[in-house]
Amino acid sequence: MSNQPTATFQTPACFVCGRVSLIELPAATAAALSAGVAVQHLLPAMPRPEREQLISGTHPACWAAAFGEPDET
Ligand SMILES: [Zn+2]
Repeated sequence: MSNQPTATFQTPACFVCGRVSLIELPAATAAALSAGVAVQHLLPAMPRPEREQLISGTHPACWAAAFGEPDET
């Protein structure tokens, strides 16, 4: 599993700070995301703020600054 190929996925620009993020993902996951597969299906264990960053590009810290801390148990 350690030699699983990875790919760099570029998120959309964060609407708060305007910067994109480059996130290293398994190659198959990055390809599926680029093809439009919903991130919650691909990465169900990923914390919601990080999924939000993949989908919208909004950084967890920027989201918290704009809207307050995510209301998650
Ligand atoms: Zn940001």
